Amino acid sequence: MALLKIAKMGNPILRKISEPVTKKDIQAADFQRFIDDMIETMRDEDGLGLAAPQVHVSKQVVVIESLEDDRSPEAPPFPLLVLVNPVFKYLSKELRTGWEGCLSLDNLRGKVPRSRAVRLEALDRNGNPVLLDWEEFPAVVLQHEIDHLRGHLFVDRMKDMSTLTHLGEFHRYWIKGEKNVEEV
Ligand code: ZN
Repeated sequence: MALLKIAKMGNPILRKISEPVTKKDIQAADFQRFIDDMIETMRDEDGLGLAAPQVHVSKQVVVIESLEDDRSPEAPPFPLLVLVNPVFKYLSKELRTGWEGCLSLDNLRGKVPRSRAVRLEALDRNGNPVLLDWEEFPAVVLQHEIDHLRGHLFVDRMKDMSTLTHLGEFHRYWIKGEKNVEEV
């Protein structure tokens, strides 16, 4: 396995629409290795999720995982999931607004409104169908990651830029009582 290099904001690959993964791709050993590398990279970066364009591969693949240990109550653990060609079948009209960060936007945080609940259809790493209904925080992580596959960054989803803040200032001025912040 190998750690992959993270593409940072400004890299055009983050603005491209990713290619769907074919059945043939899924079965290939190098694709399976790539998924293992994505998982290893996400864990190494202490991220809650990673989308393939963030590691310079314009394919529709995301991995997400929240481990039990150091997460706040607003960011509950959820299991490792590998999602191939994910699409939303439903996005709640009800919104929740929370802090987001991104491995591709170093040391920045901002408040982003997202749908409170989603229904997701995807394939797993073996090509089997996945249907997921998720709410609240995990639903937000999914929206953030799938946005990467469509060329969107969290700053595009902010209602205004007044909460966009550097990490030092975030801890100094904003974080009190608000712990719902993760990098994805
Ligand atoms: Zn991100």
